Amino acid sequence: CGIIGYAGHRPAVPVIIEGLKRMEYRGYDSAGVAFAQQNELQVIRAEGKLGELENRLNGHDVFHATTAIGHTRWATHGLPVERNAHPHCDSSGCLALVHNGIIENYQSLREMLKSKGRTFLSDTDSEVLVQLIAELRTPGTSLRQAFSQALSRVEGTYAVALIDLDEPNRIWAARKSSPLLLGVGVGENFVASDIPAFLGYTRDVVFLEDNELVELDPFAWQVFNASTLEPLEKKVNHITWD
Ligand code: GLU
Repeated sequence: CGIIGYAGHRPAVPVIIEGLKRMEYRGYDSAGVAFAQQNELQVIRAEGKLGELENRLNGHDVFHATTAIGHTRWATHGLPVERNAHPHCDSSGCLALVHNGIIENYQSLREMLKSKGRTFLSDTDSEVLVQLIAELRTPGTSLRQAFSQALSRVEGTYAVALIDLDEPNRIWAARKSSPLLLGVGVGENFVASDIPAFLGYTRDVVFLEDNELVELDPFAWQVFNASTLEPLEKKVNHITWD
């Protein structure tokens, strides 16, 4: 299983598919991508191998979006079927999220969110996280703040990446006990579970730690303490191996 996000100047979906292929060794049962297109989030997912996802993408315009997120899933909660494949969206369809790991307290969060009128479309633990972020994102609360608040309420493990229709060139990501790295390019930045996912584009890597949140767009990135949102100084490491 793996996650990847790309914000840059290239067609993002092919970059995401290639990155997912380079992480296939991690194992998976389904896969998916999300990107913004004409003021709508496109979420395309398929059960089975990445070839199935590529078949689904045929006929979609995948050459305009320059920001996207992608996922290979190893099901823990919910059958390995298309509706449980990631990315997952909130009820309004403005946020899309990919998650590796397990949200331990998803049942109580799901009940709470249902009582607030949210409709769940999957059986996964992961969907509660995107619905919770949407619920906490009230007027006056930025997505960064809502993301941070949501992470403080989930128990478990995660590497997660998130996109928002309102800022379609930006990605938010965070980790706890699941791997996640930032790849720093020129006019393009990446997040991924493992370095090979973006090694064809950049060798400059920032290792993210637990309880760190990162925001990236094509030209900039910033790591924050996920709880306090204090900006953190991070070292960029140059990878020399192949
Ligand atoms: N727990 C999540 C699910 O079952 C994520 C699994 C994964 O890490 O791929 O959908």
